[in-house]
Amino acid sequence: MTMEHANPEDLDLYALGALDGEDKQALEAHMASCAACRRQLAAARQRTALIGLSAPPLAPPPGLKNALLQQARAARPAGASRPALKPAGKIRWGLRFSLGFALASALLAFAAFEFARQDLERGRRIEQLQAQVDGDAAALQAMGQITGAPDSAEIALLEQPGGPPGQARVVYNARMGMGIYSGQIAPAPAGKTYQLWLVPASGAPVSAGLVDANQQNGAVVMRLAPGVAAKAFAVTLEPLGGMPQPTGPKVLVGLVNAG
Ligand SMILES: [Zn+2]
Repeated sequence: MTMEHANPEDLDLYALGALDGEDKQALEAHMASCAACRRQLAAARQRTALIGLSAPPLAPPPGLKNALLQQARAARPAGASRPALKPAGKIRWGLRFSLGFALASALLAFAAFEFARQDLERGRRIEQLQAQVDGDAAALQAMGQITGAPDSAEIALLEQPGGPPGQARVVYNARMGMGIYSGQIAPAPAGKTYQLWLVPASGAPVSAGLVDANQQNGAVVMRLAPGVAAKAFAVTLEPLGGMPQPTGPKVLVGLVNAG
């Protein structure tokens, strides 16, 4: 099948992913041997990219092409001497002549609304995943540094008489000011949270952050000021959001160098 140079509307449709069947094959066959039309397609892709259509591979909204064709028919000049009935397969050739700039703009605005909405949602999901992956990667790297350092200490945190059942483990490196907490405690009562504390050799306890009751399979990395020698680690029960200093009962306690 031979073909003259592709018309801009076809290229816009192609760039939108809305051209299919024989039309698509013919256009691709032509472009394979026509650098001029490949450049036109690149320009069409840039136009669509400007309105948020750049990301592959988005399915065009259903009805996009039909809506376009209907508008094209409506836009045909009233005096145009065209047959009242056209074979369905030929309608795109009418489109070629009647699809004006205003119509193309309307199409792109219509498509932009739908595509931009999809893109926004997808973009948000990708951002969230990326942040999670980045966070996980940073945490994993920190865990490797902490567990791999010869001067890291491992501390077992044990449940306290009268308190909820639980146990936890802290690997702490004073030089780095970092540690890893993993453990499991009975769920905190409503309105309360568990908070982890570093008890220094001298001075007041330092918050090492909130911990979930079930942190068995999701260790958390603590980032503290470096150079603080620890005497103990403790988990206390605190109001939601945590406290600057411990106020609640000690739930788990582990002494450093306890043997
Ligand atoms: Zn060409």
